[in-house]
Amino acid sequence: MTFPKRLIDGYNAFAAGRLQKEQDRYRDLAEAGQAPQIMVIGCCDSRVSPEVVFDAGPGELFVVRNVANIVPPYAPDGQAHGVSAALEFGVAALKVKHIVVLGHAQCGGVKAFAEDAEPLSPGDFIGKWMRLMAPAADKVGPRGSQSASDYLARLEQANIVNSLDNLMTFPRLRKLIERGSVTLHGAYFGVATGDLSVLDKTSGTFEPIKSAGLGPPPRF
Ligand SMILES: [Zn+2]
Repeated sequence: MTFPKRLIDGYNAFAAGRLQKEQDRYRDLAEAGQAPQIMVIGCCDSRVSPEVVFDAGPGELFVVRNVANIVPPYAPDGQAHGVSAALEFGVAALKVKHIVVLGHAQCGGVKAFAEDAEPLSPGDFIGKWMRLMAPAADKVGPRGSQSASDYLARLEQANIVNSLDNLMTFPRLRKLIERGSVTLHGAYFGVATGDLSVLDKTSGTFEPIKSAGLGPPPRF
């Protein structure tokens, strides 16, 4: 098996560039351990890397990614739970101060749910996983006369809110949030525009934090 050339070239570029600049930081982090204050729950999508979107260096973000940035509800049932394990470490060990659910436009997972896509394999892992966003779809309601892109954007954003709601089902985390030790945030990245919108918890809408300069702000 040949290790992908793209990765070898990329590593060499990293070793000659960023690693040189950040060598001391890597050494410090190796000795002292990581202490990120921000946890990001993002999508696997290759266009929405939290470290790229937030221009983060080593040790700054504690990241868990899955299909469509979903947080399943708290379920201490003896099954293996990847998001819950990451949350447990982020909250109880790292003591992160902020948890950001980062969703995005053109999310393939959300689209698969909306279109009730055929399973990609007999296991239908995506179908089962995406059913976790059913409460979000219920809140958005039927598509009606909305364009497909407007409807999907509303679903993508409701899915972020659903993940935030599910975070509140974790008893220990909920206490920390109510005490003000941890703050939850929702964010939405417009892949085509590069714009980032942040959930305003009062209005329940996503507000652009700035126009990134690649085009007009999103319409939603
Ligand atoms: Zn996605």
